[in-house]
Formats: sequence, C-alpha cells, structure tokens
Amino acid sequence: MKKVFRFFSHILGFEKLSKYENEYLHDANIRTSSYMGGIVVLLEIWMLIRQTHSKIVPKYQAGGDLFRLIVKYTSKYWLFLLLGLGIMLFCMFKNSKRFSKGKFISLAVIGSLSVLYTSVLSLETFTAVSESVTPVMANIMNVMLVSVYVLLFIIGAAIVIYSVFKYVKKKRVVILEHVVITCFSLGCLAFGIFVSYSDFWGGKGIICFLTMVIYVGCLLIYRPYITILTLGASFLGFYNILLTYQNGMSFQDQEVIINGVAQKIISGDSVNYITFFISLTTICFAIYHGRLNEASKTKALEKSAKEDALTGMYNYNYFSELAKESMQNMPDADIEKYVFMFLNVHNFKAFNDQRGFEEGDKFLITLGNHITDVFSDSLCARQADDHFVIFANTKDLTEKLNVLNDRVHGYDNEILLGINCGACHMSGKNDDPRVAIDRARYAAHLIKNRFQTVYTEYDKTMSEEYRKRLYVVNNIDNAVNNGWIVPFYQPVVWSDSGKLCGCEALARWMDPVYGRLSPIEFIPVLEEYRLIHKLDKAIFEAVCKDLKAAIDEGKPVVPVSLNFSRLDFELMDAVQELENLVAKYGIPKYLIHVEVTESALTDNFTALNAAMDRIKELGYSLWLDDFGSGYSSLNVLKDYQFDVIKIDMRFLSNFENSEKSRVLIDCIVKMADRINMLTLTEGVETEAQAEFLDKIGCSRLQGYLYGKPIPKNELYARIDKGELTVSDKRL
Ligand code: C2E
Ligand code: CA
Ligand code: CA
Repeated sequence: MKKVFRFFSHILGFEKLSKYENEYLHDANIRTSSYMGGIVVLLEIWMLIRQTHSKIVPKYQAGGDLFRLIVKYTSKYWLFLLLGLGIMLFCMFKNSKRFSKGKFISLAVIGSLSVLYTSVLSLETFTAVSESVTPVMANIMNVMLVSVYVLLFIIGAAIVIYSVFKYVKKKRVVILEHVVITCFSLGCLAFGIFVSYSDFWGGKGIICFLTMVIYVGCLLIYRPYITILTLGASFLGFYNILLTYQNGMSFQDQEVIINGVAQKIISGDSVNYITFFISLTTICFAIYHGRLNEASKTKALEKSAKEDALTGMYNYNYFSELAKESMQNMPDADIEKYVFMFLNVHNFKAFNDQRGFEEGDKFLITLGNHITDVFSDSLCARQADDHFVIFANTKDLTEKLNVLNDRVHGYDNEILLGINCGACHMSGKNDDPRVAIDRARYAAHLIKNRFQTVYTEYDKTMSEEYRKRLYVVNNIDNAVNNGWIVPFYQPVVWSDSGKLCGCEALARWMDPVYGRLSPIEFIPVLEEYRLIHKLDKAIFEAVCKDLKAAIDEGKPVVPVSLNFSRLDFELMDAVQELENLVAKYGIPKYLIHVEVTESALTDNFTALNAAMDRIKELGYSLWLDDFGSGYSSLNVLKDYQFDVIKIDMRFLSNFENSEKSRVLIDCIVKMADRINMLTLTEGVETEAQAEFLDKIGCSRLQGYLYGKPIPKNELYARIDKGELTVSDKRL
C-alpha cells in the first residue's frame, strides 16, 4: 500500500525535491519561456503585417487615419509584441553572468512601456451589451480581458523591479522570476479563452484556446499536480463558459444555432476535448519526469567537477573560480576586508601514522564540517591532504579560528592536534586567487610546528623570502643545467691523528641573481615541492666528476659522503642513479659514503628498506646522519646495519657546561661499538671537544675546528699548504 502511495505521489510530483532539482526545473521553465517569448514576437509581427496589409489599410489609409490604424486597430498586437520581447530578454538575461547597463536599460524600458501601454489600453475596447451580446456574455469577455490586462501589467512591473534590483543591488530576486512566468502562463490562458470565446461566438472554432493551453503546458512544468489543476480548471472553466453562450442554455441542450448552422458542443467534440486534455497533461507529465531525470544526471556530473570527493566541500579549482567571481563583484572598498587563508593541521601526519588512514579520513571529514560550520558565511574548500582554503571576511576572524582550533584540539585525547593558518590580503580585484593562496600557504609554512601560533599573515617582509622560494622552485632546472649547483667539501678527520679521512659534500647554489645560496634556502623548498632529486643527482654527478679529475691528475683522494634525501628514493631510483654515475666515471666504491638521515628511516617505507639493503649489497658504506635528533632512534639501529653513525651536533651544543651531554655521547659511542658500528661526531668546534671525543673512542670528527665546507680547489690548496694531511688509513 505504501509503495502504491509512493508511486502515485512520485507520478503526480508530490515528492520532496532537492534545492538543486527545484532550481533545475525553474531554469528549464525560464528557458522555455524565453523561446515562447520569441514565438510571441514572431507571431505578433506576422499579425501586424497581415492586419495592415489585408483589410484595414485600404479602409483607413484612404481616410488618412494612420493614427487610428497604429494605435487602435493594431494596439493589442503592439502590446503583445512588446511583452513577448520583454519576456524573451528577461529570461535570456537571467543566466548572463554580467548584467550590463545596456541590459538593464533595455529591460527597464520594455517593462515600463508595457506597464504604460497596458494602463492606456485597459481604458477602452471593452465589450458592450447589444442585441447579439447578452449581459452574461459581455461579462465573461470583459472579465477575461481585465484579467489579461492585470496580468500583463504585473509582468511589466515585475520586469522593471527585477532589473533595478539586479543592476543596483546586484541581487537576483527569484520570486519575481516566478511571478513573470506564472503571469505569462495565466495571461495566455485568459487570452485564449477571450479570443476563442468570441471566435466561437462568431461561428469559428476554439483553436486559440487550444493553442494557448499547449503554450501553458509547455511553459509551466512545475509539478504534475499543478499542471492537472491549472489545465483542468481551464478546460472545465472554458467548457462551462461555452455553455453560457445563450441565456437559458443548459448541459442538456447540445445544439446551438449560429448563423443558422447547428453547433454541437458536447457530443462528438466533447470526447475530442477530453482526449486533448488528457494527452496534453500526459505530455506535461512526461516532460516533468524527463527533466527530473536530466537534473539528477547533470547534478552527478556537476558534483564531480565541483566537489572534493572526501569531504563534499568545493574542490580547489571550483573554489578559485568562485573566489575570482566574488572578488570581481565586490565594491573596491571591500577588497581589503577579505583574506585568503590556507589552513593546515599540526601533527596530522603523526595522527595518520598512529591511527591509520581510515581514521585520518574521518578526521578530515569532521574538520571539513567544522570549517563549513564556523565559516558558514565564507567560501571554503579542501585543497588536498590536510590542506583547506578559505576566502573570508576578516571580521571576527580570530574568534572563529580559535573556535576551530579548540574543536580540532579536542578531537584526540592523546595526539596533540591544532590548526595552523596562513592568510594573504589582496591588492586589487584582479589578483589571482591562486597566487594569494600560495602566499597564504607560505605564511602558514612559517608557523609550522608552533602550536601556540594559530594565525599569521603574509606581509612585505615575507615577500622577499617568498619570492626567493618561488625562484628556487622555478629555476632548479636552470641551476642544474647551468652548473649553478656545486658541492663544497667539509673535512672529516681521524680523532686520534687529526688527519683527513674523508669529506662531506654539501650543496651550494651559486646564483647569478642572489649570489651564493645556502642549503637552508633551497633544500626544504625543493623537498616541499618534490624536486630535491634533481639537485641531489646534480651533486652526485659533480662529486663523481671531481673525484675522477683528482684521480686522473694523480692528486690524493679521500672518500666523499653524499647526502640522500628520503624523497630521492621515492622520486627516482636513487641507488641505480648512483650506480650509473659511479660506473660512468669509474670511481672505486670505497670512495663513496651514503648518508641517510635518521628521520627518513622512521616511516618504514618498504621501497626505502629495499634501497638500504641494495646500497650495502653493492658495496657502498652506509652512514646514519643526524643520530639523536629525531624521535625514535634506536629502532633504526636495530633494523639496519650502518657502517658509521653520525652523532648530531646538538649533543655538543652545551658540552662545556653539561655533564649530561658528555655522558650521553659516551654512552652512544659505547653502544655503537657493541653493535659493531663506528661513530663520527659533527659540529666539533673546540680542542676540548676533540680531546674528549678521542678519549671516549669516537673515531671520526667533523666541524669548524677542522674546516668549514669549501670548494674543491680551496681544499686542495689547504692540503698543499700542509694545513690538512691526507691519511692513508682506510677503515
Ligand atoms: P648536514 O648533513 O647535517 O650537514 C652538516 C651541516 O652542519 C652543514 O651545513 C655544515 O656546514 C654544518 N656544520 C659542519 N660543521 C659545523 C660546526 O662545527 N658548527 C656548526 N654550527 N655547523 C657545522 P650546511 O652545509 O648548511 O647543510 C645543511 C643541511 O643541508 C645538511 O645538514 C644536509 O641535511 C642538507 N644538505 C646539504 N647538502 C645537501 C645535498 O647535497 N643533498 C641533500 N639532500 N641535502 C643536503
Ligand atoms: Ca649530512
Ligand atoms: Ca648531519
């Protein structure tokens, strides 16, 4: 029973439609109205031509009464022409993106003229009671005519008001759109009845009524039950009106005599009449359901083009489009009240690692909901990962961000979460939202991992740094191809003899614009933009070239340590690249040490495990860089066999005052010894440190005490001067 009920309520259109479906139906109605408006225009032009050329012209022109011809005998055609044009343009302009002055003026003028014309016309041309016109008939005719005028008047007025709102307030008044097309349909019905009644009365058919009913069927496809009601009322009403043709006539009197000819209203024709009604209603039903179907298909398509699949928020592309549009529609003075924000989650990576991807996704969906809720009056979207973008008014911004931060903070009891938001103001209406967002992202990046700071704005002082970052990203290929990337070499010495046992290759970017850039200015950016492998490959090759040249020249050579970024193993086959270069330049493998940082190895990323094994298999020495600087060091020692552990320079930072630091270094060296690994301490700056490290058994030292990173030529100059002695001990 429920099913049957549901089926009928679906067929008759009682079901609840989504906002989107309603809008789609409305848009379709507007579209049809614009076509119908166009047809009215053509029809009226044709009528005007016909009227002037056939009967009236010779009759009135002869009398010279052109004014009467234009104003009186063709007045209705002019009015409908005007209205048809008005409705056509009104419907066409609804969807136009920019409502220009020209559009405003044309609508306002047409609307006002229609109002005026209707007012003037409504003063005359009413049907008077005469010998052949009974009072009832005259009443019907006049009621219909007044209805037409009233409806046309409303349409004209609605068009004027609508255009003013749209032009001045930049607001679309949807209700007026409904008013215009509904009045247009009802006006057609009233007109159809008026004309057909008088035609019928003059012995002709009721074609006009039928045409108008079809018209309305096409115009007003809101809901099937509305169609049944409107069309049903018109058919039934008109049918009854026909029966009032002469006083005293009833349903039973089926024949009317007009000009001596018997007219059958009910019998045969009535069947056709009902059939016509049924077919028309069925067609309207079909159109309605067809449109609804289209709506759901288009919706699915539009959804995928506009939405982020996980959170259901807008996606980045659509967000940028909407933001651009809203900037352009903004008064100039408002521009500075708005910011683009880039929002990021502190510790999201840790959350994902510990709770798993599914929980990570759940968190992102919840965060998306919170953002949409807190910034309900702003434009929000998800860009990717845990990155969200918002285009918002700066009013109450801090409060809103604090609310959001509190919610994120309270999400997990154990993992510390929080938001980190960068913002960028615009300088003008034509700014590119993407550039603003990239700047906001940069500002956010600067407060990464600073939990107490939720919000920061991009400003002029950042802009130089920002430009440099962009420069690095945009010029890495140039830098590689033009040899701007060069290795500097920092000495590594034996702690017992102080003799040179190796060098670490540290990248420098010799830039024609910025001069010498240090790694802190380009390594993190290149990692962020996943371009670091380009730099590393260039350094590997340059080091191989330098070694080959030194070997060829018969100079002394020492092993060189190369820094591998974690991403190198993702972005290229790092081991194979190294293998190829070593083969190409014929470098003995003992001359290459591979440095991998501890933090790279904590992710347990399988490709990386395989790469570590392969490095060892191929015969390279594997070094663990920055030991003790990350969170989980000891597991790494358990899982991989390193040849050398490089103890992070932070252990030496308060060496003189801290007994604890000394004990720690001592313990690390002893532990490494127990598991057959050698040690190197970085950042040695004083003799006291060197002496201590030698005493506890740390075999290699590196630091400013022995030399800063320098170009190859300077290194050989120091060797030649005797400042550095090359050791012949190999271990
Ligand atoms: P790192 O691998 O830990 O390199 C050691 C850094 O400490 C170098 O900084 C070096 O100049 C500095 N240093 C050495 N001795 C001392 C000292 O006694 N005192 C002080 N205060 N500092 C000392 P640099 O050259 O600026 O490199 C910074 C970081 O950039 C490196 O840290 C490394 O992680 C990265 N890096 C450098 N070159 C490359 C490269 O070619 N590829 C990759 N992926 N990363 C590189
Ligand atoms: Ca290193
Ligand atoms: Ca290091």
